[in-house]
This record gives sequence, structure tokens and C-alpha cells, in this order.
Amino acid sequence: MFKKILIANRGEIALRIHRACREMGIKTVAVHSEADAAAMHVRLADESVCIGPPSSTASYLNIPSIIAAAEVTNADGIHPGYGFLSENAKFVDIVTEHGIKFIGPSADHIRLMGDKIAAKDTMKKFGVPCVPGSDGEVKTLEEARKIAADIGYPVIIKASAGGGGRGMKVALNDASISEAFSSARAESQLAFGDNAVYIEKYLGTPRHIEIQVLADGQGNVVHLGERDCSLQRRHQKALEETPSPALNDTLRERIGKTVSDAIREMRYEGVGTIEFLFENDEFYFIEMNTRLQVEHPVTEMVTGIDLVREQINVAAGQKLSLSQEDISFNGHSIECRITAEDPNTFAASPGPVLEFHAPGGLGVRVDSALYSGYNVPPYYDSLIAKLIVHGANRKECLMRLDRALEEFVVGGIKTTLPLHQDLIKNDEFIKGEYNIHWLEKFIEDRQ
Ligand code: ADP
Repeated sequence: MFKKILIANRGEIALRIHRACREMGIKTVAVHSEADAAAMHVRLADESVCIGPPSSTASYLNIPSIIAAAEVTNADGIHPGYGFLSENAKFVDIVTEHGIKFIGPSADHIRLMGDKIAAKDTMKKFGVPCVPGSDGEVKTLEEARKIAADIGYPVIIKASAGGGGRGMKVALNDASISEAFSSARAESQLAFGDNAVYIEKYLGTPRHIEIQVLADGQGNVVHLGERDCSLQRRHQKALEETPSPALNDTLRERIGKTVSDAIREMRYEGVGTIEFLFENDEFYFIEMNTRLQVEHPVTEMVTGIDLVREQINVAAGQKLSLSQEDISFNGHSIECRITAEDPNTFAASPGPVLEFHAPGGLGVRVDSALYSGYNVPPYYDSLIAKLIVHGANRKECLMRLDRALEEFVVGGIKTTLPLHQDLIKNDEFIKGEYNIHWLEKFIEDRQ
């Protein structure tokens, strides 16, 4: 087992990882930028190292500084959290070359799934259903036109290297494909230094449903059910829940088995999420995330499994201690992502937190690195807290969420708490009748 883990991240996820390590008796090293010297993850860790100035490129993405920090502190493992270097295969290679264990999958698996065209090919090969579309990269406009005509409009042009919703353009008809094709390529070149794109049928009213897996690279794989992440703004998730109001046990078992079989074939190690669009009772693979996800706590709430602990155990070479029969799904869980943004305009709202009170009580969990007197820096992602609630069923979960949101106080900065309060009182949301476009419409109507 690891003796000391360096946490190459910040904010709530750094704290989340620290907590798992602490419970396992593993020492922690926090790394931080100059802007984060007073951050909670730095205060709680056993040791801390400043790795550079505020900008992420100079600090949390600065590979030499992070490796140096691990060497100086004698860390034997590095946990990347999510974002930053978590899906950077080159980082994994360098960590490994230095004799330190990267807590996550192999560099090869990260590379394979980071290339969305290769990822789709791989999943197809293992019998996972995919969105109909081009067979690999589409290089010319003529080719794009022909494929779009074959599969039928609307279509979506997507960057093979894509992430965070960038490099994706919808073409409604033949007249708009030229513009969509060239702008997707240009955006991808700019954001990822790679202009390879592919085409998919654009699904009209799907839900975003993802399956959590846990694997030890030794042939043992379990799936931990689904998360419904359809509530998105600009392709960014805002609220997630499990179970999905749209699934039943048969559908869950079917997709869970398909995914587990594919992951076993791949000899994948660690936690992973296989993302699907779901429409008319059919699943269509879109991508795999080879890391811990922001929304992992809802899965922990219904399964009782600590995903970070499991992740650390398999990284230490242990066999999975769980088999599929050991996993049961209990009740319902919802997560609200609270960001430091104006709830109407979504303008960033960094600054000093003058007052902070987190809700509590039965079935309430808050993952946040905030404290009263903390100054939210302007340099990073705006996520400041995740409110995760558990109930015996969806109805109880919503009642609990309502009162927990009411109790939550963050003074001094603007947050999206009021948006979540309105959202969970909406009739369609209460009935679970929503798809990936629903939240944007709700926000528009609210303004
Ligand atoms: P990224 O890696 O940039 O997040 P994804 O492939 O995961 O990109 O897609 C992000 C979101 O974009 C999905 O959750 C969905 O809302 C939308 N999307 C992607 N592919 C399609 C598609 N074929 N049809 C409709 N919506 C799509």
C-alpha cells in the first residue's frame, strides 16, 4: 500500500482525495499555486509544496514542478483528481519513469480513450452500441456532405481530441454543413492542436446517461449503475442523479453487462465512466472518461462504496474485493453543482466569502473546500461546492434537497444556489421529464 500520496489538484476534489487517504492511514502531500496558499486542502494535508504562480499552466499543469514536489516529499503515488493532468498520457509516462505510481489507468488506455475516434472504434469492436455516423475521421467537406446525406440531417461534427464541449458543431441541413465542418476543425485546432473531426447523427431529445465502472486490470470488473447527467448548460453538467428516472432494472442490467464485458476485454485498471446518449430505450456510446468524475458522489451514496478508496486499492495492485453480486443500489441520490457565478447571467463571481454555512442532517453531504474568510480566486473553475443528498426514493430525496438548499449560506459572492432552488421546484423536473436540452430552455424561460 502507498505510504504517501501527492494530490495533483485543488479545491473540493483535493479535499475528497485527502479524506480517503486519511481514512486509509496514508500521508498526503498538497501541491498549490501561490493563489491557493490558504486553501483548505493545503491546510489539511500532512505536507504542502508551492508549485508556481496562480495561472494553471504555471502550477497545476506544470509537470516538472509536480514531479519535483513528489520527489522532494518522497511520495510513492500521485492522484490526479479530475481535470488538469488527470487525462494526460504524457504526464502518466513521466510519473511512471520516475518510479512513482499514477493512480489511474495506464497511459495507453488514456491515449486510446482520449482519441474519440479510436475510442468509438474500440467500443464498437467490443459490441458497445454507438451513435450512427462516419467510420473514423472525415477529412474533406465532400466526404462530410456524403456521410451527412446518408445518415440524415441534423448531424454533429465533433473533434476527435475534444473535451469540455469544445470543437462540436451541429449542421441542420446541407446549407450549414460547410460552415459547421470548417468551424469545428478550426476550433479543435486552436483548443487541442489537432483538427481531426468525425460526424455523428445529432440526436434530438436524448438523455445523457453514464455508467460507472471499477476494474483492477486483472480481469475483475464491476459496474456501479448509472448517473443521469442530462441537465447541462453549454454541454456542462449542472445537476446529476442516480438512478435515472428513465431507466428500469432490465435496461440497467443490460447496459451494465455490455460495458463491464468491454472493460474486461480492454484489461482496464481503475475507475472509469462510459458516457451514452439515451433515446427511445436505446443507448449510444459517446465517450469514456478515464478518471474520477465530479459527480461520483451520487454513486457512492446509493452503493455505499468509497470510489477513491477502491481506486487507491487497485492502483496499489490489489484485486477488486467486490463482485457484481455484492453491489446493491439503495434509494436515490442527487448532486447540485454550486458555482461562484451570477445565477442569472453566469458571470464569474470570485472574491471573499464573508459567511459560510453548509447544510447537514440525515442524508446530506457537502463536498466543498470553502470556509468563512476564504477568498475564491478568479483563476480556476467556478465550482465551489457540491451538495449531495440521499433519500429512500426520489420523492424523499427532492424534499431533503429542498430544505438543504434552503439552509445553505454562502455570503459575499454570488452563487448558483438560487437557480438550483428554482430548478427543483419545476413540475417537469419533479416528474423526471427532461433531456439534454431541457435546462437551457428552463434558464431562458427563467430570465
Ligand atoms: P465533451 O467530451 O466535449 O464533453 P461529449 O462527446 O461527451 O463531448 O458530448 C458532450 C455533450 O454534447 C453530450 O452530453 C450531449 O449533450 C452533446 N452531444 C454529443 N454528441 C451528441 C449527439 N450525437 N447528438 C446530440 N447531442 C450530442
